[in-house]
Amino acid sequence: MKKLEEYVRSIPDFPQEGIIFRDVTSVLEDADGMHLAIDTMQDLVKDLEFDVVVGAESRGFIFGAPIAYNLHKPFALIRKKGKLPCETVSQEYSLEYGTAVIEMHKTSIKPGQKVLIVDDLIATGGTTQAMISLVERLGGEVAGVLVLIELAGLKGREAIAGYRLDSAIVYE
Ligand code: IMP
Repeated sequence: MKKLEEYVRSIPDFPQEGIIFRDVTSVLEDADGMHLAIDTMQDLVKDLEFDVVVGAESRGFIFGAPIAYNLHKPFALIRKKGKLPCETVSQEYSLEYGTAVIEMHKTSIKPGQKVLIVDDLIATGGTTQAMISLVERLGGEVAGVLVLIELAGLKGREAIAGYRLDSAIVYE
């Protein structure tokens, strides 16, 4: 069986020159790759206590939901602005160009619940910071952040210093 990182396709100069895009579609499109990704991520948090898994649209859903299912925990969704039907909290955050807004239902997390945030990738950590902010504004306690890929050179780990971060694959 191949190693997990061998399933990740690296695309040079996407979306712009000088950037190496780490593509997770090649992990998901291989049955062994997908199993290995979920199992490896889940194993990283086996010592962690949490009540709820939170994932952000859309790749956070792909990795977060199977982990929640396997561990018999609820899965709470963070979505892009305007998609959730009930009362929400919103958080704006910076992208490379401009800003984006993510939202969560006010009822998704009960005060005091311990939350595991799952995403495909952490780069600068801006998206993760926004997710942490939503969880905390709802009274949740972030027990940890779990990602498939960490782009260490972009210093996401420092951006969320003080929070536990587990990553299955680290690129320098
Ligand atoms: P951050 O907010 O800078 O940490 O960026 C993280 C978000 O950007 C993640 O949710 C990813 O989906 C996306 N992203 C950034 N770089 C890559 C990449 O190389 N491959 C796949 N997604 C990426």
